[in-house]
Amino acid sequence: MSELAYPYEAPASQALFDRAAAVTPGGVNSPVRAFRAVGGTPRFMVSGTGPYLTDADGREYVDLVCSWGPMILGHAHPEVIAAVQEAVARGTSFGTPAEGEVALAEAMVERVAPLEEVRLVSSGTEATMSAIRLARGFTQRTKVIKFAGCYHGHVDSLLAAAGSGVATFALPDTPGVTGAQASDTIVLPYNDLEAVHAAFAAHPGEIACVITEASPGNMGVVPPLPGFNQGLKDACAANGALFVSDEVMTGFRTSRAGWYGVEGVVPDLMTFGKVMGGGFPAAAFGGRADVMAHLAPAGPVYQAGTLSGNPVATAAGLAQLRLLDDAAYETVNAVSAQVQSLVTEALGKEGVAHTVQTASNMFSVFFTDRPVRNYEDAKAQESFRFTAFFHSLLSNGVYLPPSSFESWFVSTAHDERAVQRIADALPAAARAAAEATA
Ligand SMILES: *Cc1c(COP(=O)(O)O)cnc(C)c1O
Repeated sequence: MSELAYPYEAPASQALFDRAAAVTPGGVNSPVRAFRAVGGTPRFMVSGTGPYLTDADGREYVDLVCSWGPMILGHAHPEVIAAVQEAVARGTSFGTPAEGEVALAEAMVERVAPLEEVRLVSSGTEATMSAIRLARGFTQRTKVIKFAGCYHGHVDSLLAAAGSGVATFALPDTPGVTGAQASDTIVLPYNDLEAVHAAFAAHPGEIACVITEASPGNMGVVPPLPGFNQGLKDACAANGALFVSDEVMTGFRTSRAGWYGVEGVVPDLMTFGKVMGGGFPAAAFGGRADVMAHLAPAGPVYQAGTLSGNPVATAAGLAQLRLLDDAAYETVNAVSAQVQSLVTEALGKEGVAHTVQTASNMFSVFFTDRPVRNYEDAKAQESFRFTAFFHSLLSNGVYLPPSSFESWFVSTAHDERAVQRIADALPAAARAAAEATA
């Protein structure tokens, strides 16, 4: 890291972080933002435009996080901003039904065939929590199968062996989750159908649902092996359980119809968030109409939300979905492929063992030469090389997720200039990764 384009200190961010730490646990409102896995000062951003973020010290970064997925059109897309301004001028929340939420639900149902009915909520966590409750209410069963390394938000029963920040910080069982909640959760290795069949055999008539990330991105990108999701669906069908596909990350990102659009496996229930909110708190769960009919007020399973279907959030989400046509996905896929090959070229030149894994335009780099099929494989990588790689890129104006257990994200706004900046920064980062020691 000899010729830095930017001085490495971030005094304005550091001052804000100090202020934040005095009033907020760890100085952040979501753990991975704190940079604890990689060290250093988290950058406080003040604005975003297209593929760039600008921090409090006035430095610009090419953003490869895209708010962890939602900003698939880049930051401050003019048409999304216009839709938000138009909506916000009419009032920010009514606490009544409004047309915007109907239009967003219609747009989602139109794109994702298995989605017959959908209920809007405000976060992905709420979506998976509600889907699990509905699955339990529908099947009258208590147990849930999840996979190690999959993250479904911070739902009590789904935090066991979770990905994302839980993986980043190698947290053991989370305090605050009761033994009953934990014991109703069966955690299995990802991509292991034998383990699923064994769990169904060991708990006959007890398993309400299997929940899985449609294609996991919260232990880094670890796509399902061919036949895995279909095998889950078949095992659920054979045992009277529901198959819940968590598309909070992949939905409307990996294709027009999310991961369902890539693989075509039909779930009973699905969850969404991130892209569908256009950068606002909007999320959803939905699926089979006969299952959704069990939800209040149509049925007995309660679920509600003061800000559910918020008019500003639904306007943003709808504007974003309308812009996400086939051409948009082609652009994102092409940018993603370009960045992947630049990374491989740079790391290859320095002889750094690595594996780039992809799920459509989602991708991540594991510092190991072995394919990563599950959470154990992901943990076996040389994360210390990622730390060096991350800081070199950061100091040269490229913002990666601050953890080796996260997907990278690009947008339609990542143009030639942005990609060139990544290309320019990669050789030094690859060298830093090669020279890193544990
Ligand atoms: C981000 C994410 C969630 C949680 O969504 P929040 O809006 O952060 O609560 C759930 N599932 C998956 C797959 C995610 O990537």
